[in-house]
Amino acid sequence: MSNAVELTLGDDGILVATMDLPGRPMNVVNDTLMQGIAAAVTRLAEPAVKGLILTSAKADFCAGGDLDRMSMWTTPEEPFAAANAMKAVLRQLELQGKPVVAALNGHTLGGGLEIALACHARIALAEPRLKIGQPEVKLGLLPGGGGTVRLPRLVGIQQALQIMGEGNDISPDKALGMGLITATARDHDELMAQARAWINANPKARQPWDLPKFRFPGGDSRSPAIAQLFSVAPSVASAKSWGNYPAIQHILSAVFEGGLLGFDQASVVESRYFAACAMSQQSKNIINTLWYQLNAIKKGASRPAGVAPSKVQKLGILGAGMMGAGIAHVSAKAGIEVVLLDTTAEAAERGKLQSQALLDKAVKKGRSTAEKRDALLARITPTTRYEALQGCDLVIEAVFEDRSIKASVTKLAEAQLTAATVFASNTSTLPITGLAQASARPSQFIGLHFFSPVDRMPLVEIIVGRQTDDTTLARAFDFVLQIGKTPIVVNDSRGFYTSRVFGTYVMEGITMLKEGVHPRSIEVAGLQAGMPMPPLALMDEVSLSLSLHVAEQTKKDLAAASSGAGQAYTEHPGMAVVRQLCEIGRVGKKVGKGFYDWGLSSESSGKVLWPELTHHFPVAATQPPQQELIDRLLFAQANEAARCFEEGVLRSVADANVGSIFGWGFAPFHGGALQFVNAMGAAAFVKRSQELAQKFGPRFAPATVVVQQARSGGRFTD
Ligand code: NAD
Repeated sequence: MSNAVELTLGDDGILVATMDLPGRPMNVVNDTLMQGIAAAVTRLAEPAVKGLILTSAKADFCAGGDLDRMSMWTTPEEPFAAANAMKAVLRQLELQGKPVVAALNGHTLGGGLEIALACHARIALAEPRLKIGQPEVKLGLLPGGGGTVRLPRLVGIQQALQIMGEGNDISPDKALGMGLITATARDHDELMAQARAWINANPKARQPWDLPKFRFPGGDSRSPAIAQLFSVAPSVASAKSWGNYPAIQHILSAVFEGGLLGFDQASVVESRYFAACAMSQQSKNIINTLWYQLNAIKKGASRPAGVAPSKVQKLGILGAGMMGAGIAHVSAKAGIEVVLLDTTAEAAERGKLQSQALLDKAVKKGRSTAEKRDALLARITPTTRYEALQGCDLVIEAVFEDRSIKASVTKLAEAQLTAATVFASNTSTLPITGLAQASARPSQFIGLHFFSPVDRMPLVEIIVGRQTDDTTLARAFDFVLQIGKTPIVVNDSRGFYTSRVFGTYVMEGITMLKEGVHPRSIEVAGLQAGMPMPPLALMDEVSLSLSLHVAEQTKKDLAAASSGAGQAYTEHPGMAVVRQLCEIGRVGKKVGKGFYDWGLSSESSGKVLWPELTHHFPVAATQPPQQELIDRLLFAQANEAARCFEEGVLRSVADANVGSIFGWGFAPFHGGALQFVNAMGAAAFVKRSQELAQKFGPRFAPATVVVQQARSGGRFTD
């Protein structure tokens, strides 16, 4: 007997079933919850019961499927059976001949919405923060609890495909407008009163699809308009996903086939596609990284234990340029007082104006209010005076990428700070241990590497210098969570983790150009590999001159270090191309020309590949297979990530995977740069790496750690 759903029968004959899954912060769909709902269905059959209200005692109505249960499935029979079992209960619920109302008191997502769809009416609290939707696709899954069957029958095939194919959250107002819910209520009392009233007004409620004259709103799969929709929908989906997300195809298939079949047959078809999704490697990869590993990070897996939690009240930022201003914005948004310092009052003020511009846009779009904007801006104090830093818990420097300037601002700031203040650098390339030499307290010196644009990028890479202590790391970690970003923690190294691995992707694409691969094939390979932006376009965005500058700085640094006995500098073969383009002034997007001509075309992207590119880098008569290009782009990154792991730059597999997806967009369906190796298996990875190394050079030689895994049957785990 399940205790997940409490049943209370009122004097009015209305049974209230309150979901409250024991031991869980949220209601999730699993056997325990479904047993509780099944018990409610049994009670509903009793003659004294007039109708049922299904609601929740938790903050949410129901958050979706239980991923812990799903991750235990090893054969397709298990998800198939689980989906059928859930559907059997929901079918009984809607076929009792008595009204059932879902009272949506909080988020209603995934399996939660599927439960609500099996009720005859859905009434939601009219709170804009309340999320309604079918986000399964984002985990490589499809709604397997009847969603692909009921949604198209309720709101029409086109709208249902959009809801399930995009997986976005829908607010109660919008859900009401599209007919997804029946009504909204201002507060909990009104919610329950409306639910009771609905039951009293509809004593013999039936679902529209169980009425004899039922027609799909907008037509079923046979209707000309919908047939036309299905003739283009797969290619539209593919244009975005490049076929890397089978769940999208499966959703289309389930809805199309379901639109030709009766309710019960459509339900079985859905269970089959659900099983295919649940067994897919893509779904396992996404759930592994963007659920389990991300949660582990957020719970502090990479934070030193035993250091008391901390909060930043006052933050100092040195340098009000693009990054400094961005960091000021996100910190002020989190309620932190910010001192934004630059060399001139105008520069400091300009940094604050960057925040104002973002906020004005948000107010205009209705995402914020003038009061919130003004309150946030009041927390940012632009200044040129170092004395204003007094009382800061944390100072982040984001001045020019120049060692001597960074050293000078470090000293000036520290003169104003107490012993307890943490000092962080937002450098993207300079090793932290070296920068810490300018500090009087190198144990409190750390790297906080933000990504651009700061307000949109979710990751911060925390770099632990050789002398950084645990308290400093814990405080930096707490700060990153405080501003709502995801922290990964890495040890100090040239390029740290993210810049180092990201560079291999871009440089591999550029190397292909040098070899005579058609530039369009290179760019398409990047997208086919699952990367958000193709390599040549990305290099233009980052700027070729910056990349050349970093390479030359690295060469100088290594030469200086190896005057004793240090590392030799090995130039990436793609760097010659970068140099060549820089010499003719094609340094990237910032000057309107690089691998692309920018801002010239009427295409939405506003860029076209530079027509002269193939004169400078003639296209070879024989072009390689596209899969080889894709492999090169992905193996270059995965292998470099594995090297970061074996060198101890990476401290955890979770940080490696989440950092790769959030930091530079490594193909999410592969689950991150190290999960790519795990999913393929070390032996297969080593074999393909060796083939690539033989053909394209030693940079593809498999990392020793993976070679050892191949021998021992190991994999990357935390
Ligand atoms: P930027 O040129 O936009 O801003 C630098 C700011 O520092 C300017 O406003 C400048 O006036 C100010 N500044 C220079 N010397 C100063 C001094 N002595 N005292 C106070 N202010 C001074 O540069 P940015 O892109 O914001 O980069 C800043 C830092 O962040 C660099 O270390 C860079 O490597 C790093 N970073 C940049 C990115 C990026 O995408 N741009 C990403 C991550 C990290």
